[in-house]
Amino acid sequence: MKTALICGISGQDGAYLADLLLKSGYSVCGTSRDAQMSSFQNLSRLGIREQVKLESMILTDFRSVLQVLTKVKPDEVYNLAAQSSVGLSFDQPVETLESVATGTLNLLEAIRFTGANIKLYNAGSSECFGNTGEMAADENTPFRPRSPYAVAKSAAFWEVANYREAYGIFACSGILFNHESPLRPERFVTQKIISSACRIAAGNEEKLYLGDISVQRDWGWAPEYVEAMYKMLQHDDPDDYVIATGQTSSLQDFVAEAFTCVGLNWEDYVETDQSLYRPTDIAVGRANPSKAKEKLGWEAQYKLPDVVRMMVEARQKGF
Ligand code: NDP
Repeated sequence: MKTALICGISGQDGAYLADLLLKSGYSVCGTSRDAQMSSFQNLSRLGIREQVKLESMILTDFRSVLQVLTKVKPDEVYNLAAQSSVGLSFDQPVETLESVATGTLNLLEAIRFTGANIKLYNAGSSECFGNTGEMAADENTPFRPRSPYAVAKSAAFWEVANYREAYGIFACSGILFNHESPLRPERFVTQKIISSACRIAAGNEEKLYLGDISVQRDWGWAPEYVEAMYKMLQHDDPDDYVIATGQTSSLQDFVAEAFTCVGLNWEDYVETDQSLYRPTDIAVGRANPSKAKEKLGWEAQYKLPDVVRMMVEARQKGF
């Protein structure tokens, strides 16, 4: 039986990945910065809380990382832990940089130090590309990060590439575009939209305040994105992959879809709030995920309308 260590198991992707790996016959251990204090609500919601082992680990503390790797002896490590909000990264740039860049470096160093045959998946981000414009970004597109978060993820991406090249470590970065699910916290705009639309449809009198709804992104379904992470580590060669649906839509499209799903017209309920605009934002994020299809056999099945519908349905069922 293989053992997987998921750093950041309490988050959206961590919970879905744990579910997938358990179903694939893995022994799964997950980390949280403080496993005693964390509620692991997402694991409970998926009904797998009791099936995973849990450890405390702080990625920025090398001793802590080394201790957990030595104890768990994983075959595969999935590095998902990070300050993961682009918006928050403007207010907490140092925490963001350290959790992502120093955290990834500590994991790579610990793997190198132990000399163990451990495969590493690193959670990269499409935010690294910045504005793609009409040209869909692929694995050869240069990075032009436009937030502290994206700067940190860019550094971590190159750390992984360098350790793979310099020390032969089996390490991959998934350059994932946005992916959503019912487990997305309301801090993220997609869940904020879904929650508000559902509350309004249920009779609540409120307005939904949003920043720039003209921004365009590629939105996919988180449970199938974790399959791509898994597939990267099963491939013979370590490599980096863009993971996305290949379809770009505006945030306004997302809003309209959500309100249509609950039988309402978004224009009656949505207002723009300038204070929610980011200091710098990405106007367009466009993806070309063809390498993942060719080399991993991975392709997104769910597109924006499916994602919105499934999030609304989950919310209405009280999931
Ligand atoms: P979440 O925010 O849901 O989960 C990330 C986990 O990291 C949290 O559960 C938390 O665990 C831990 N964490 C939070 N803040 C910090 C911090 N400052 N330092 C160290 N650990 C922290 O993220 P997702 O599951 O959505 O994403 C997983 C990874 O993929 C992240 O690295 C994210 O940046 C990246 N990503 C996500 C995308 C998306 O659309 N979801 C797109 C592209 C990349 P705990 O509190 O238990 O320690």
